[in-house]
Parts: sequence; C-alpha cells; structure tokens
Amino acid sequence: MGSTKTKLRGGIDLGGTKIQAAVVGPRGKVHGEERAATPTEGGPADVAREMAAALSGSARKAGVEPADLVGVGVGAPGDADPQGVVSGASNLPGWEGSYPLAAELSTALGADVRIGGDVQVATEAEFRLGAGKPYRSILGVFWGTGVGGGMILDGKPWTGRGNAGEIGHTVIVRGGARCPCGRRGCLEAYAGRGPMEAKAREEHEKGTKTRLFKIMKERGHDRLKSSVWEHALEDGDELAEHLIDRAVKALGAGIGSAVNLLDVEAVILGGGLGVRLGEPFLRRIEKQAAKHLFVDDRPPAMHVAALGDLGGAIGASLLFAR
Ligand SMILES: [Zn+2]
Repeated sequence: MGSTKTKLRGGIDLGGTKIQAAVVGPRGKVHGEERAATPTEGGPADVAREMAAALSGSARKAGVEPADLVGVGVGAPGDADPQGVVSGASNLPGWEGSYPLAAELSTALGADVRIGGDVQVATEAEFRLGAGKPYRSILGVFWGTGVGGGMILDGKPWTGRGNAGEIGHTVIVRGGARCPCGRRGCLEAYAGRGPMEAKAREEHEKGTKTRLFKIMKERGHDRLKSSVWEHALEDGDELAEHLIDRAVKALGAGIGSAVNLLDVEAVILGGGLGVRLGEPFLRRIEKQAAKHLFVDDRPPAMHVAALGDLGGAIGASLLFAR
C-alpha cells in the first residue's frame, strides 16, 4: 500500500465555515470528495487535523492513499509564503500569527503540499476548466461571507505584489458603511454575507419584521447561511429582498468599476451566495454593472462559476498541474 503513484491530485479549499477536500483527475474530474466543518475553537493545528482527515476521506472514496497522490494543493485565506507558512488567516480560530501548514499537512498525509490563495486558485479553476475557458482575461468575483476577487489577464494569473484582486475592498461609497476590514464604504460592507447578517440583526432588533432568523433556527443554523437567504427570498421576505438588492447594486458598482479599469472579456461570479442565488441574480448584477460601464456598448460576458462549490478544491489541486 502507498507505493503506487497515480495521476490523481488532492485539493483542499480552506474556508471560514467549511473545509472542502477533493481528489481530482488530470482533466478536472472529481474522483472523491469530502466536506468538514471548519473548527470554530482551538488553533491552526486543529484546523490542519480536520483538513488532513477530509483529504484522507476523499482519497478513500477515490480508492487511493493520500501518499499516492501527485501532491495536495491548498487554497487558503491569509498570506502564504513560498514554504507554505500561512499567516493572518483571521477568520480561522487562533490563526492571527503564522503556522507551517504545508509542512504539517505533508507530514500527516505523506504527500507534497503546496499552498495558494483561496480566491486565486478558484479563479484559475474557472479559467482552465470552468466558465472562463473561452476567454484570455477574466475577473472572478466570489460572493460569500466576504467578497473576494481573482484575475487572469492575457492568460496569466495576476496577483500583483501578492495581494491583487481585493475587489471586496474597492470603495463604492466614500465614508459609507463600516467594513469588517475596519475601513468605510467598501463593497464588502454592503455585499458580504457577514455585514449583511449584522445589518439584518440591527434592523430586526429595531422592529423590522423578517423571517430570516426564524428560517435560520428552523434549519438548525446559527448564522444566516446562503440557503437561509435563498429561502427568505422565496418567501418574499421584504428585509431579505431589501438587503440583497442593496448587495446587488453594490456588486454592480464594484464590478462595473473593475471592468472600466481592466476591460476583461468575462466576469465569473462564484462564492456561496453567488452560486446558490445563481443566474437570476447574476443578471440583476449585470444590469447594475452596465450602468457604470464607461464603454457601454461592449459589456463583458457574465457567467456563474461552472465548478460551483467544488471550484476551490479543484483549483487547489491545479497547484500540482504545472
Ligand atoms: Zn473593507
């Protein structure tokens, strides 16, 4: 056991709420996948243990040992150095400092491990295998707890000096709403699921009627997950519709401005909310973005991420595809 090398690669998408692992073939086919909740207590070692378990589970489903994989890629939040030390992943428990994630996972799995940025690997997955395939230049926008962005320009990933793509912190209202980053008026302050939940709570406490929190409890959640927003919208909940509309307008302003700057051929919308709300909401965002386009007779194509929830894990596996 453990000596037959395969052409399969592992990928792990490390998110603030879930860890998605997958074992992926050379053409992006998923052979096994497993999901685990991201620990909310403890520290990086506990998160790494869950990651290793989820990857091992995916490998078992694919009929291989982790050690037989070409390697295991990880899409992580925060900053990763070339040695795979991850720093400042502040939405993960006790991860304000640095942790040698690649080395620890490599020891646990017996496989090589590489770390990339979570949003950038998901953008590359869409570019190489998903909705971005027909294009040379794309902007990936990931609408979830926060709002992340990734870019491929003229066929190549653009990461700037390491931190490009932060479309969530482009300013859409000067002196506007407070963002989780501490600044004001960022896109994320209006469209991030975190700030949207905070705003919903504030309105609810002020007496605005909404079914959002009832739906949350009925479904056994303690946060307003994407599915909760979806059900509230289906119920015609006015507060949910108001806050989603506010997010759609904010996304339109952010995306329109980014397109004015970059003139990409296509915008791909992913993330928990982006994928769950899907096509009808993408069209609403597109309509809002159109209002801000300087060259408005040639708008970019807009697509929902084709790889859906698995895009991050598939993209992470591509760290071993070069
Ligand atoms: Zn911000």
